[in-house]
Amino acid sequence: MADSIKKLQDLFSKFPTVGRRTAGRFVYYLIHQPTQTTDELIAAIHELKKGVKLCAWCFNPHETSEKLCLICADPSRNKQQLCIVEKEADLLTIEASKRYKGLYFILGATLPESPRLLDLKKRVSAGNLEEVIIAINSTPDGKATTTLIERTLKELPQKLKITRLAQGLPVGGELEYADEETLEGAFEGRK
Ligand SMILES: [Zn+2]
Repeated sequence: MADSIKKLQDLFSKFPTVGRRTAGRFVYYLIHQPTQTTDELIAAIHELKKGVKLCAWCFNPHETSEKLCLICADPSRNKQQLCIVEKEADLLTIEASKRYKGLYFILGATLPESPRLLDLKKRVSAGNLEEVIIAINSTPDGKATTTLIERTLKELPQKLKITRLAQGLPVGGELEYADEETLEGAFEGRK
């Protein structure tokens, strides 16, 4: 196999949920596209890296010239509630359900790998929070992460209500793929 084919296949296979075989399909798809299409793709990736930055408070990617994302800057959001999620896709799923109107914090990875635990502690210490909702997947890594966050937050002097999303989310399932009804139930029944 030619080097450039293999190289691109290696790169695509690092994408979430993409295995080597699918990565290979992407490469052959691109080979058969006109140069205009591949140029557009390259330009879009450039723009993405230039224009998108992470929110200074919650790490949500956004394209405004401000430090904060649109959710953090929105005065109608409930600043007393914080929902901790593992990744951006989980935030999008929860936002789509329109059930939750508080703030978010994106861990970026499960713990202890996430370097953002310290940031989380700072946000919670500095804020006016009343409730922290831990909305992490119920995978083994996710469960360990939830326990570690709970332990960390309980060490803080604040009187916080710490809740987890109710069961009902598929066991070992990913929050990202939960439908709106399931998610609404999980928020209603959080404890
Ligand atoms: Zn934000």
